[in-house]
Amino acid sequence: MTSNDAPTSGANLRLGSRTVHPPDPSAEGSDSLGTPLYQSHVFGFSDTGTMADALATPGAPYIYARYGNPTTSAFEAAVADLEGGAAAHAAASGMGAITAVLGSLVRSGDHVVTQNCLYGGTQSYLDDLAERWGVAVTPVDAGDPASVRAAIRPNTRVLFLETIANPTVEVADIPRLAAAAREAGVTTVVDNTFATPLLCRPLEHGADVVVHSATKYLGGHADVLGGVAVFADTDTHERVRRSSVDRGATLDPFAAWLLLRGTQTLGVRVARQCANAQELAERLQADPRIAAVHYPGLAEHPTHEAARTLLTGGYGGMLAFELTGGRDAGRAFAEAVRLASLAPSLGDVKTLVMHAASVSHRKLSAEQLSRAGISEGLIRVSVGIEDADDLWADFHQALDTAERV
Ligand SMILES: *Cc1c(COP(=O)(O)O)cnc(C)c1O
Repeated sequence: MTSNDAPTSGANLRLGSRTVHPPDPSAEGSDSLGTPLYQSHVFGFSDTGTMADALATPGAPYIYARYGNPTTSAFEAAVADLEGGAAAHAAASGMGAITAVLGSLVRSGDHVVTQNCLYGGTQSYLDDLAERWGVAVTPVDAGDPASVRAAIRPNTRVLFLETIANPTVEVADIPRLAAAAREAGVTTVVDNTFATPLLCRPLEHGADVVVHSATKYLGGHADVLGGVAVFADTDTHERVRRSSVDRGATLDPFAAWLLLRGTQTLGVRVARQCANAQELAERLQADPRIAAVHYPGLAEHPTHEAARTLLTGGYGGMLAFELTGGRDAGRAFAEAVRLASLAPSLGDVKTLVMHAASVSHRKLSAEQLSRAGISEGLIRVSVGIEDADDLWADFHQALDTAERV
């Protein structure tokens, strides 16, 4: 048999070959409404020149999934569009996106300014950069542009903020903070996980890079890990993409496909979560067993004014409240909920609660807790899309239990 009549598919192949080369029912001519899942880590070529070019030019055409995959690109394009960015880069998790951005923008001897209270994983990575790479980090009050200006040094590269801080749900004054950074040539990176692009688009307020734990609201169904960074300019995007390809923290195509499906319902989920959170915040505020409620949608919240100008369409699905009974009451409440779940995540369709002092902030002393604005009886709530009356009934019975400890 000459090479020209060697079979490539179908009945001419032996069964062992047919298992690896099945018929390919092409979708040509039909229009798939769902985004196809390209569960392929590698792509084939007809000539070596095109293949070599593909290595140099990402995504055109695809070559190897660590460099890019059509389903992953579709997710990146969707989030870049929602955030109003020039380009996006997806990562295996939120921390994958955050470390790709910080690790590409700073080098040994540089300085980073951050807001006081950061997501634990981000803080831990910054601690590592400080210890092993000599990157100095200065935390500042995110409500005060003057403190950002005062903290900036000649070697400051990055200002790192979170739109809505955890767990005090304080809203950062992004327009003024980013302007202060820009004056000094400092890149502003904003973790927009809690707000989602439905409520806030930090690039429109002067930020340069937005990062997300897509695991949370973008995915929304507690079934996938992912992260994404969105860039105002393509140069920074390319810098981060290249370094991320080398690190290998690439988003899996199936995860991208799940995240895209989640993102399609982000608008209706967030609208419902905001409405439920406002309702719960008001009912909690009226309950004598609650010492304080933290929700940017309440007029009493210290950053309500910033929230009113920065957030559009609602004040988010995250709230926190403090039980008058302190640490024991907090733990008892978190363990007594039945419709809500005790779980260390957020942004899900289901309501999740967490007792900060015994879980996320367990390593802090009573004094450190109070400096971070976290009381020992503080419960963080990620409000889901259940019926608000059912949620309140659950919270009410858990408050009754907490009162008895
Ligand atoms: C969860 C979270 C992260 C980390 O995301 P992963 O997907 O768990 O890696 C970063 N920032 C915020 C605000 C988060 O809530």
